[in-house]
Amino acid sequence: ADIAKYPYLASLNPAQLRAVTAPPDVPLQILAGPGSGKTRVLTSRVAHLVKCHGYQPHQITAVTFTNKAASEMRKRLQALLGEKDAATLVLGTFHATCARYLRRHGKRIGLDNNFAIADADDCKKMMARLLKERAPELAKMHINLKEGVVLNEISKAKVKEETPGMMAVRARREAEKNAGADSVGLKDLAKASTTLEIIAELYEEYETSLRAANALDFDDLLVFGLRLFREESWILEPCLHILVDEFQDTNTTQYELMKCFAYANGGVSVVGDPDQSIYGWRSAEIENLNRMRRDFDGVEAINLEENYRSTGAILDASHSIVSQGAFSTGAELTHADPNRIPKDLYTSHPKSTPVTLKQFATPVIEASYISTEIKRLVAYSGGMLKYDDFAILLRYNALSRVIESSLQKDAVPSRVIGGHKFFERMEIKDLLAYLQLADNPNFTPAFLRVVNVPRRAIGDKSVAEIVDAAKRDKVSPMELSERIIDGDKLPQGIKPAVKKNLATFVGIVRKLRRAASQGTAVDDLIRLVLEKTRYEEYLRTSHQDFDQRWENVVELINYSVTVAQEQGRLQALNPDDTVNDFTSASAVASEPPARKPKPAVHPMFRHNPAESLRSRSASEDSKADRKPKVKVEDDVVEILSSDDEFEEVDIDEAEATAQGVADSEGDSPNPLRFFLQSSMLSTDTGSDGDGVDTPKVTISTVHAAKGLEWPVVFIPAVEDGTFPSYRCVEEHEIAEERRLLYVAMTRAQLVLSLSHTMARMTGGEEKDRNISDFVARSLRTNPTMFSSSLPEINAPIRQQMAEMLGRPAPDETSTQELIMKHVRAAPPLSTWDTPELRGRGNRFARREGPSGAARA
Ligand code: ATP
Ligand code: MG
Repeated sequence: ADIAKYPYLASLNPAQLRAVTAPPDVPLQILAGPGSGKTRVLTSRVAHLVKCHGYQPHQITAVTFTNKAASEMRKRLQALLGEKDAATLVLGTFHATCARYLRRHGKRIGLDNNFAIADADDCKKMMARLLKERAPELAKMHINLKEGVVLNEISKAKVKEETPGMMAVRARREAEKNAGADSVGLKDLAKASTTLEIIAELYEEYETSLRAANALDFDDLLVFGLRLFREESWILEPCLHILVDEFQDTNTTQYELMKCFAYANGGVSVVGDPDQSIYGWRSAEIENLNRMRRDFDGVEAINLEENYRSTGAILDASHSIVSQGAFSTGAELTHADPNRIPKDLYTSHPKSTPVTLKQFATPVIEASYISTEIKRLVAYSGGMLKYDDFAILLRYNALSRVIESSLQKDAVPSRVIGGHKFFERMEIKDLLAYLQLADNPNFTPAFLRVVNVPRRAIGDKSVAEIVDAAKRDKVSPMELSERIIDGDKLPQGIKPAVKKNLATFVGIVRKLRRAASQGTAVDDLIRLVLEKTRYEEYLRTSHQDFDQRWENVVELINYSVTVAQEQGRLQALNPDDTVNDFTSASAVASEPPARKPKPAVHPMFRHNPAESLRSRSASEDSKADRKPKVKVEDDVVEILSSDDEFEEVDIDEAEATAQGVADSEGDSPNPLRFFLQSSMLSTDTGSDGDGVDTPKVTISTVHAAKGLEWPVVFIPAVEDGTFPSYRCVEEHEIAEERRLLYVAMTRAQLVLSLSHTMARMTGGEEKDRNISDFVARSLRTNPTMFSSSLPEINAPIRQQMAEMLGRPAPDETSTQELIMKHVRAAPPLSTWDTPELRGRGNRFARREGPSGAARA
């Protein structure tokens, strides 16, 4: 009867059903292998809470690991609940969820709600400055600190809720312990505690800079979120249930956040898989699973054992990798993982084609194999597989360059996720920095980024002077700049010439701030930046790849329009939801504009971008036809365009308006802030700058591919040095690398191909490479686990594929035509099987053409 009423229950197996329909007040913990439907159970449970238990969608918070996963889940829930209900769910990463509450209630813990979010790059720059200040001191002590290392320590401290003070105490304690070390020649030990002391000081300074800039870094979002929820726990009272996906990768702070939500009203469901824990390097703690059992009474643990995702062959091969840890015996296995709990995972899917393992001479040949093989599989699947059914999963971003170029050469369209991130591109960061300053003038990273971009003769030295003077006056550099422009007396140490150069910059920012405070649409704000800074001209004259960069700029405008639409849509859907203007910022962000069909060039720029900008400004700005003015002052000649000249703006009034928006907890939306938040939180999804009308092959890091699935997966560079990474030496690190390979392999549904090369450039030097020890080991115990020949795709396999994907099987006649066409189009001789490869004792790959194809 239930199933008739709740159709989403129909396709669940008994264990899944038990999980989905468990009473809402029973703390639920589902630990199960990949592809066993954990995410599906979580999604269905959300639907069931609404449909069966009468929860309001906004009373449910679902936390996913990436923005992409959040948007996938929202899509599924749209189908189950309808668009309106899906939109009001609080659904996103821990970071996005915290950001949302902090905007709204941050004031209560002393946080301005126009705080900026500093991304990794901003933080690095900030730390680099702090390190530079200490350079002489560090050199004297022979301590060499890189900003990445320091930030990493700080991040670890933050997620453990260790303050700079606590870190200093720890450092001192260690120093005492190691006091004798130096004298007995253990210099390193003594040095380590000194280094920690210095890091503690840097931590303190870093925090001060962030607070002064009214900014939060990514960890702060969690830390401040936690503080808010602990001090003002009533805020979470309306939240009746929290669900967490990928629980095995939560860190301590995230766990504590979950507890705050759960303790507010009791409902908690988590799903995870210890075998897929791959964020230990970012302080994730598998221990949280046990912690939860201690912290909550009557935790119900449910195990799911059936894998629905992959063929038997893929499941067996990946199991042979991950189980190396648990079943290790004897001296041979050094990196066993004795803590692993063996799990049974079975599938009713056929074994199907074996997992491929290929060896190549060089990465170029390997890449060429991948693009050739993708085309072959498309043909042999009878067109059932499209390019977006393929993923290439990489251990490192940097491995993508060769692959990208091979795909391009073979005209296979691709997109990169978790890689060259759209929001990390120079031009995008420049424009965002201007917008950030409009929203939060105290955000120093943005100030430093663009005060001299485009170049306006404010050199590094002048910037340093401004920063120093600002520090002395205890204001932000932006505020100091404004004082310089407004005041008649220059602060000590600032040269008169600087004032003139700053005028242009301050003028632009003020104009933007005024426009923003009037609620100007973000796309118009971006156009305003472009126009006032003559950004296009700057890009054209100072950067070679102008076209690409300009496309990105146009894409940012597109994106801002999409975000605005999404915000409008959300508001229309929940006019009275008090916290909803920042709902699902992540959902927006994870839907890059590329998602919706659109012209490659924004209509506004279709003809001549510069021209349309100009004509626009001419019609809208009566001052546009004014001639540039030449100002002579103190013997310095400066050309000011009519608008570049600093314009009197009633800043107080503008700020009052902005403040008004910010003050009222809950009503009128602030499009700029919504946009900035979407942008800053979307760094785990990339936009590739053109439409997704054409299916594309996905290139992704393994980390970013977590939780996702594709019919065909390629994993290149399965080599020692890559899997495991050369950076990993300790046992627990190696174990994490093994799980990483496991996560990669278990993304595949139908076809999985591993490959490795015999030589690879590392640090500019060609080095011999060996097959990954993980795979070699598997191969030794079970030589038939992998096959060196290309997977044979015949009619029965096509039928199997169709069934597994739930797609119609391709028609055999046209399939044969496609195959013939492919065979004719395929390169005559294998492009990737070369003489030198044979010469090098190719152990695993037999000689064959591109080639299954050629023979067929
Ligand atoms: P991972 O650990 O990789 O995140 P998961 O346990 O979250 O995997 P899901 O992504 O939820 O697994 O499910 C894997 C695939 O199996 C999905 O395509 C899902 O739709 C499908 N699936 C899950 N349960 C069932 C079921 N009972 N019947 C049919 N298909 C199912
Ligand atoms: Mg999942």
